[in-house]
Amino acid sequence: MKMLIGGKWVDAAGGQTFSRSSPGNGMEVGIYPEAGAEDVDRAVAAARSAFETGEWPYMAAEDRARILTSTAELIRKNADRIALIETLESGKVISQARAEMDWSANLWDYCAGVARTLHGDSHNNLGPNLIANVMREPIGVVSIITPWNFPLLIISQKLPFALAAGCTAIVKPSEFTPGTTLILGELLMEAGLPDGVVNIVTGHGRPAGQRMLDHPGVDMISFTGSTAVGKIAVQSSAQQLKKVSLELGGKNAQIVFADANLEEAADAIIEGAFKNAGESCNCGARLLVERSIHDELVQRVSKRAQSVKVGDPLDPEAQIGAIISPAQLDKIVGFVSRAREGGAGVLLGEGRAPSDAGLYVYPSILTGVDPQMEVANSEIFGPVLSVIPFDTPAEAVAIANQTDFGLSAAVWTSDYERAVAMTRRLQAGTVWVNTYSSGPAELPFGGYKQSGIGRENGRAGVEEFTELKTVQFHFGGRQAWWVRGQR
Ligand code: NDP
Repeated sequence: MKMLIGGKWVDAAGGQTFSRSSPGNGMEVGIYPEAGAEDVDRAVAAARSAFETGEWPYMAAEDRARILTSTAELIRKNADRIALIETLESGKVISQARAEMDWSANLWDYCAGVARTLHGDSHNNLGPNLIANVMREPIGVVSIITPWNFPLLIISQKLPFALAAGCTAIVKPSEFTPGTTLILGELLMEAGLPDGVVNIVTGHGRPAGQRMLDHPGVDMISFTGSTAVGKIAVQSSAQQLKKVSLELGGKNAQIVFADANLEEAADAIIEGAFKNAGESCNCGARLLVERSIHDELVQRVSKRAQSVKVGDPLDPEAQIGAIISPAQLDKIVGFVSRAREGGAGVLLGEGRAPSDAGLYVYPSILTGVDPQMEVANSEIFGPVLSVIPFDTPAEAVAIANQTDFGLSAAVWTSDYERAVAMTRRLQAGTVWVNTYSSGPAELPFGGYKQSGIGRENGRAGVEEFTELKTVQFHFGGRQAWWVRGQR
């Protein structure tokens, strides 16, 4: 496939390419241009020109919305093809990839609505001589850098929101999963998006991603990925004081009280910890369980976990597919073995699952985890659940809040007074009560602490990509400033 710059499908200026092999079976599934700094410069120039002199920022919201709606329809129409590429490149199971297509299309639909209702404010209470408009304007050219765990879904949490606001963009998908973002580029062109409004470069974090962070022609950075690269983005943004929006890691707690519906909680715990092979910022990696029900709940969770099917991502019955890369697989297995050496019990999970060419791990449940252990604090990004008992709500809150992260948390209880009290104390951008991992397009998503800056989705998700401009209109004659006073 080729990259999309200024409405044209192009190779890298240097002619280099890179390939992607499926983590499910080791076979090559895609060859892509390897963008260098020169390619990013061309993409920024195209986005800059589309923003400065193109029609997009000033287009009637009605027309912009029509393109976003058409894109949603095209995603649905092409869902089988996109889901297949998503599965081949990411290793996620096909049933889940298929579900993510609808979820993604829904975000494009939502943004079509928000584009038409986005507006500023007006003030007519400023005295007889002044009225003012506060206008919401697109921030400009946005660098969007995405990871490999939910390729189409994560770009759909950013790009339609930026477009709804009237921005133009340069997008770089992960080196592991470029295919579906390029297909999205095809669909945007088919939907009638003007040339240069969205430019897609494929390549590596260095040099292409870094150039997208550093480029002086970029007004805003929108990044999802590791906290380490998020910090690089912040450092880089300081050069021109670009706006930065970050969606980073998590070490999310599922807190279960003795009065919870344990059958439902057990199901959600499995989903939260093992969906997408745990390669999710929202992974419910810590189970905080009231001590009196510890054994019963662990037994229920473990019984369900044993029936989770690990295998070929293309198998419609598989629930955990392949791990994205050998390095990520080693990272997961390393965490489990260090936890075992540190005294945790490995109730379930023997590490790497046998396969000739694929990258598979069994889901793990670690018991007797001390809140101070590495496995209780670091993001693993794999199917590893750490179980930590607690005795009081205050202790549960303290353990839940102790990490550097603050992305999400869940509370399981039938006592809604307690649930409300817990939601007020948990330091997390999302708190679920008696559910896990739902994410309607209407609701803002993002993190406290080192889980990020800013919010995606909902109205806040579009407003991230805007600037406020205050315009003051004076009426009547002007009084000389020394008569008016110094205000
Ligand atoms: P990264 O943060 O390295 O990658 C995410 C994106 O950033 C990719 O597109 C990557 O490009 C790009 N990137 C990397 N370095 C730079 C740079 N210097 N400047 C600009 N862009 C850059 O994540 P990894 O893939 O290395 O995963 C490592 C860990 O990060 C995981 O184990 C997990 O803990 C966490 N993670 C969190 C995610 C989340 O959803 N919050 C998503 C993915 C990972 P390229 O792929 O080409 O290197």
